[in-house]
Amino acid sequence: MTDCIFCKIANQEIPADLLYQDEHIVAFADIAPKAEKHLLVIPRRHIENLNDLTADDEALMGHLMLRLPEIAAAQKLTGFRTITNTGKEGGQEVFHMHFHILGGSELPGF
Ligand code: IMP
Repeated sequence: MTDCIFCKIANQEIPADLLYQDEHIVAFADIAPKAEKHLLVIPRRHIENLNDLTADDEALMGHLMLRLPEIAAAQKLTGFRTITNTGKEGGQEVFHMHFHILGGSELPGF
């Protein structure tokens, strides 16, 4: 999608410190961190949110989920919180699916 900020980050059309990248996904620091460490992990392909997934995305989602703890570990996070907001009512502000990784200090229970 041409007007999507996260597509532009994934394509390196706008500067971002990519903390992890491979063929399918990209991780970078959240611009307005809500925890000591706050990363975002996105698929390179524009998918709006969990509601937009199809059966064809099974492998991609498995890949992404398995990378989350690796990406967190690379940032020296032994424990972390993962959040994905789905839709405006779910608090989603950027409509390119992303998984927040939050950590760095002990988080309060949810
Ligand atoms: P959402 O509310 O789950 O959609 O979260 C969107 C997140 O994207 C927020 O935590 C924002 O701080 C973050 N964000 C928005 N624009 C940028 C950017 O250009 N770079 C990095 N993070 C961003």
